[in-house]
Amino acid sequence: MAVGRPICSSGSRFPAEMASFSVRFLGCKVSHSDAHAVRERLIADGHEERSAGAADVAVVNTCCVTQEAVSKSRQAASRAARTHGRVYVTGCAANLGQAMAGLPENVLVVARPSEEIAGTVAGDVGAIGCIQADARLDRVRAFVKVQDGCSFSCNFCVIPLVRGASRSRRAGTVLAEIRKRVSQGHREIVLTGINLGCYRDRDAGYALARLVREAGAVQGVERLRLSSIEINHVNDELVSALRETPAAAGHLHVPLQSGDDDVLRAMGRRYTSATYLRRLAGLADFNLTADVIVGFPTENERAFERTLDVVRQAGITKVHVFPYSPRPGTVTASEDTVSPQVKKERSARLRAVSRDACLARWREKLGREDVVLVDRPGRGYGEDYSPWLVDPDAPVGRFLRVRGADVTEDGIRAA
Ligand code: SF4
Repeated sequence: MAVGRPICSSGSRFPAEMASFSVRFLGCKVSHSDAHAVRERLIADGHEERSAGAADVAVVNTCCVTQEAVSKSRQAASRAARTHGRVYVTGCAANLGQAMAGLPENVLVVARPSEEIAGTVAGDVGAIGCIQADARLDRVRAFVKVQDGCSFSCNFCVIPLVRGASRSRRAGTVLAEIRKRVSQGHREIVLTGINLGCYRDRDAGYALARLVREAGAVQGVERLRLSSIEINHVNDELVSALRETPAAAGHLHVPLQSGDDDVLRAMGRRYTSATYLRRLAGLADFNLTADVIVGFPTENERAFERTLDVVRQAGITKVHVFPYSPRPGTVTASEDTVSPQVKKERSARLRAVSRDACLARWREKLGREDVVLVDRPGRGYGEDYSPWLVDPDAPVGRFLRVRGADVTEDGIRAA
């Protein structure tokens, strides 16, 4: 950790008085969950949350999944340094070598595992007493981290280097956190992890499927989703748990990365395109979404076209397109053979396929009913995580029964 020596006798940089703080995160739902843990800890220690720019202290939980993510993380830290007395940079990019080096002097890089971030930042800011206040998220959904790290070793991926090996939280702790989130008013729970299918609480006899069933049975959980799941973990047990849990959404986000077997092999992925298609074959009623990397070094035009084919055949709707960028410390760190123009052009073609697939799925909802959880004014998500446009006056946090009237580029318009 790059945080220097504490300057006050309590072990904190700050005298024992209230500090105001703001927290933001970049990247995935795990990053969101880690940032929330910091907020909760600072509020519990008696500090006051304020909007960014109006606080003494800023916490920026960073992402390093692509070079662009690192750049955005650095920009966020620099911006925060101009308007806050002290900035704590935490999360993935903080653990990636020198990625966060050279930032302004009031930026402290906290290169620690995710489990230690909240305690480290809170220890440095300093507690003023045990207030035990609740840090309620503004959002209607709560991201509950159940697993962190990854013990796989995909050749392009920097995440195992910055997050370490896979480990899981105890099922009892996870279920207790879900009960707490529900008591704070969250209507939807998203079980979140870096490699969620690796979830295990061996002592208590839990794998992900059992956790889904019991999380969905917690009183007050009205909607339950998984953040992302690798295709090899999409098995009968998990699918049955999702189908038999009334709160579980009909949505799965299953990273594809490429639809070409040679590229998948070069990436060090552990499946073929046939496996991907076979395991999703019985899930046509689910809304399936995916991540795809475009412009991996061995991806030629034919390989890319195979990716488009697999996306279409699998019935994927929303594709999160990641133009490949080499990450330091990975097997393919020195390889980047596809030109930026080709990456851009392929990304646009893939986004067009994704857009068409989204519109086609949304059209199926015309004239049909759905139940939308309003998560922002005028917007929300239906039972399969399709986006809806609803009455702008509908209260945020409410479930609305709606009927599809029209399809727009942004989602299904409710009657
Ligand atoms: S499964 Fe592969 S891509 Fe996903 S976090 Fe692990 S190493 Fe990275």
